[in-house]
Amino acid sequence: MSSNETDSSFNPLASLLAAMDCMVWELVDSDSSLVPISAAPAWFEDIIPPGGDRRDFLSLLPYLELFIPEAIQTWNVGKGCTQSDFWSQTTNSGEEVHLLALAVLIEGRHFIIVRSAHELYEERQRWQLYAHETTIQLKVIERLKGQVEESARALSAANDQLSELSIRDALTGLFNRRHFDRVFDLELSRAMRGGGPLSLLFMDIDKFKLLNDTYGHSAGDDCLRTVGQVLRDVVRRPTDMVARFGGEEFAILLPDTDGVDALQMANSINRAIRDLEIPNKGSDVCPFVTASLGVYTRQPDGDRATAQIIEAVDAALYRAKHEGRNRAVVAAPHQR
Ligand code: GH3
Ligand code: MG
Ligand code: MG
Repeated sequence: MSSNETDSSFNPLASLLAAMDCMVWELVDSDSSLVPISAAPAWFEDIIPPGGDRRDFLSLLPYLELFIPEAIQTWNVGKGCTQSDFWSQTTNSGEEVHLLALAVLIEGRHFIIVRSAHELYEERQRWQLYAHETTIQLKVIERLKGQVEESARALSAANDQLSELSIRDALTGLFNRRHFDRVFDLELSRAMRGGGPLSLLFMDIDKFKLLNDTYGHSAGDDCLRTVGQVLRDVVRRPTDMVARFGGEEFAILLPDTDGVDALQMANSINRAIRDLEIPNKGSDVCPFVTASLGVYTRQPDGDRATAQIIEAVDAALYRAKHEGRNRAVVAAPHQR
């Protein structure tokens, strides 16, 4: 037995088990006797009665007497290689210790390992504490994640709102000049590539200064809002665009629209505004608010720059004013 106690071929396992603070025996099949292969841990020393024979393990740990035959049976029927059980034992100092026995089969050798449950409890408590802290941390992370997601949603909504606001005119809700410039550029390039016509209307409210002077600035604002709404109602194609160009001037961009349709649209707008019957009593044009329009249609091989087109449509609008207002005038060929 003494030679087995220091079995050098088993040192790695013995040192591993020693680190686990275990008592380990090898079960020798021939006589089912227990041979210790680890140093006795402190708790084990406390179990040995004063003057007791530390080699008489079965008398020291009587429960093993039951456990070992069960372990042998398990091994014999080839049911895995481990079996375990707990029991209690009183130490010399009168305390009760809980012990855990494990029956392990490693490379054809049979071992009985006994561990003090006290450490296992401590270990379990440490893990429980760790798990508890981890759960709290996870909850905090979940909450923060929720807050971050919420902030990101709010930020993205605010961004959407901001970018929508940045392309709108605050008074009328129509697109603003900046957005018009951008879309006009894109539509002109598209028309040049696709070879389709592109029409542009410029509209200016007649005698608007007079309306302001007669009815007040806020009546002027109301008029601009109403006119904006009428333009939105009359110009309905999704690719068409109505923008407030500035003051009481509006631009209406009509992609894929020829000269005939563009003039028809200008006349419809002119009529719709007149039909609103917004009073402008001092006007020598008409007692109601009216508008003048310039109409320009770019032919497939026409002007290649937005500035030239704006100049041409502005000249047509000027003519509409000059010829008596409340009308639509098509840009003359020499203005193209
Ligand atoms: P015309 O028939 O030649 O176009 O004459 P008009 O009086 O309409 O043109 P004018 O350029 O003399 O006056 C335009 C007026 O529009 C002057 C300006 O105070 C007013 N106006 C510009 N923007 C706004 C606005 O946002 N609200 C109001 N109420 N008035 C505005
Ligand atoms: Mg004007
Ligand atoms: Mg005007």
